[in-house]
Amino acid sequence: MLSAPLPEAAQPRKVTVIGAGVIGLSTAHELAAAGHQVTAIADQQPQQTVSAVAAAIWFPYHSENSEAADLLLARSLARFEQLSGIAETGIDLRYGLNLEGSADEDRSWAKIVTNAAEAPAEAIPPIAAAGMHATVPVITMPTYLSWLQAQTAALGVQFIWRTVRSFDELKDDADTVVLAAGLRGGELTGDDQSVYPIRGQVIRLANTAGLSDWLCYDEHPQGVSYIIPRRDDIIVGGTDVDHDFNLEADPQTATEMLSRAIGLVPELEGCEILEHKVGLRPARETIRLERIEGHAVPVIAAYGHGGAGVTLSWGTAQRVVELLGS
Ligand SMILES: Cc1cc2nc3c(=O)[nH]c(=O)nc-3n(C[C@H](O)[C@H](O)[C@H](O)COP(=O)(O)OP(=O)(O)OC[C@H]3O[C@@H](n4cnc5c(N)ncnc54)[C@H](O)[C@@H]3O)c2cc1C
Repeated sequence: MLSAPLPEAAQPRKVTVIGAGVIGLSTAHELAAAGHQVTAIADQQPQQTVSAVAAAIWFPYHSENSEAADLLLARSLARFEQLSGIAETGIDLRYGLNLEGSADEDRSWAKIVTNAAEAPAEAIPPIAAAGMHATVPVITMPTYLSWLQAQTAALGVQFIWRTVRSFDELKDDADTVVLAAGLRGGELTGDDQSVYPIRGQVIRLANTAGLSDWLCYDEHPQGVSYIIPRRDDIIVGGTDVDHDFNLEADPQTATEMLSRAIGLVPELEGCEILEHKVGLRPARETIRLERIEGHAVPVIAAYGHGGAGVTLSWGTAQRVVELLGS
């Protein structure tokens, strides 16, 4: 049993979810598992979304620092840990090292990670100041999104592939609409200009080095750096450029990223480059996760997750179910 059924007092609703990235799919899953009748509408299939580009490690990168976000983090971690026991999900619990540029970085994320511990001095390269070892979920997104879509469909969610231009289009078929539209979250509400892209470029390498541990160093003096081994490949990143909509991979950026990564993990030298990828993180000062009134149909917003949408996905989905019931 993955989800709680409807409380006795709650009535099943007809809910339309806009979006089929990790937030839309997780939300549709939780709503359907709670007994609601769910339709998901999206104009990008899961594999075409930024969610498919994500590295993806459970980590609150570029994420809001608040009590509400902490709850989303903890709930998501618990679900990913539970799902890691199912091979087809593409989720593995992996050990790794989060490097820090100074001795006073925010380590609040580590409170809920069972084996998180200060890394010994000999594990810290001269370019960093400190670090934390931890075992966290690493999610091979193409595998995971396919699995999640299939699970969601098996719960009875209907998928429609088209663009929604106005909430008016949905009012006859839905009691409530969930807006999980990522970077385009503000377009339909008309009251939110604050969502912007943070461009991320990554390289996918063949894992001929047999690497198993991840390594992240956000504060690397030459630019954010991460090396995430997955089932059959390694994701090397990255970049984080605000307000940049360019979806083309830049060769010079790729060369620099790879050079930083090899500086941190010399075993990467010689691994074949399989692919270059770019995604636009849907950033906002705070995640928008609330009811919005004043539209043709009641709306619950669930967008603006920045660099941590996967990390916060199950918690977000569970919160939407609560908001629907409240
Ligand atoms: C390089 C990179 C690395 C990353 N690594 C990580 C990581 O390690 N861990 C992590 O947690 N996060 C990571 N992220 C961030 C993560 O990818 C995002 O936070 C997350 O994917 C956002 O998901 P979403 O469902 O909100 O949006 P999206 O995946 O963009 O999905 C939006 C959906 O809405 C639909 N849509 C929008 N508007 C409409 C409309 N009007 N009509 C119909 N459909 C519509 C689209 O078709 C799409 O299906 C990374 C991102 C990048 C770029």
